[in-house]
Amino acid sequence: MDSKERYRVYSQYLRERYGEKVYKIPINLPVTCPNRDGTAGCGGCIFCGEEGAGFETLSKFIPVAEQLETNIAYIRKKYKAQKFIAYFQNYTNTYLSLMDFEKYMAEACREDVVEIAISTRPDCIHDDYLKYLQELKIRYNLTITIELGLQTVNYHTLKKINRGHTLAEFLDAVLRIKNYGLETCVHLILNLPWDDEADVIEDAKFLSALGIEQVKLHSLYIRRDTVMGKMYEQREFEIISMEEYVHRVILFLEYLRPEVVVQRLIGRAPEENSLFCNWNTSWWKIKDRIDEAMAELDSFQGKRFDYLHGRALREKHR
Ligand code: SF4
Repeated sequence: MDSKERYRVYSQYLRERYGEKVYKIPINLPVTCPNRDGTAGCGGCIFCGEEGAGFETLSKFIPVAEQLETNIAYIRKKYKAQKFIAYFQNYTNTYLSLMDFEKYMAEACREDVVEIAISTRPDCIHDDYLKYLQELKIRYNLTITIELGLQTVNYHTLKKINRGHTLAEFLDAVLRIKNYGLETCVHLILNLPWDDEADVIEDAKFLSALGIEQVKLHSLYIRRDTVMGKMYEQREFEIISMEEYVHRVILFLEYLRPEVVVQRLIGRAPEENSLFCNWNTSWWKIKDRIDEAMAELDSFQGKRFDYLHGRALREKHR
């Protein structure tokens, strides 16, 4: 961790690992989600809009190699960048036949791509796909990161938001990913209406105990055309204040294992069609507020990371 940083900042970690600034290039695949097509559930998570998570990507009908080339050419020219992460961002990118999956992944392997990041769901992690990714990792000397949506470890809340999987499937997915030497980044929403501070602490403790490598934190983004949007309009729940969100992020970081890399502290989303988005405040202002509050409190990632490895024994026989 950089001495000036109070948590393990993603950009700094990338610089340390790859020796220079690395840019993440979003790729859009023609894929859906088992929580939308009836396999795991219908209608999707109650906050998920029609286009899933990837509002900044190129069309899914453009071949992977071309999407990469177009975006890399732009970023290379603008920032003089040399190394890139191919990021399969939208929907559930392992929810494809193995043959299609292999074809798309292979297209992303080029000399200037140092890492492949794949967003997916815990119920779409299968050994055959992981085995292929392990082969790619070895053949091309790549890092492979699986980005798993979890949102919360509270399995009652998982049911309320209609995730279509529980905590057990998440646990199974992370252990399988580890078996193949791949890395895991977990996505969480720290202000789900049915979660409280105890859930946020348990999020951090659970992920730390599991030994995941990275986290990405989001605040709730409520779209008009979603089930959650309707609930919000009918005032079926309240959203915590921005200061309370800042407090939850700090609490989460204090309980988090110090080595875990933090990709984000707050989500970024388009304001159009949204009913609630970051308290109508820019994401970077909220990030600045978190940094400021951490300095005021002399808070840092891992400050309260003392609960594993036989804590009671250690206390008793100190
Ligand atoms: S798993 Fe992702 S893509 Fe599928 S419904 Fe939920 S948020 Fe949307």
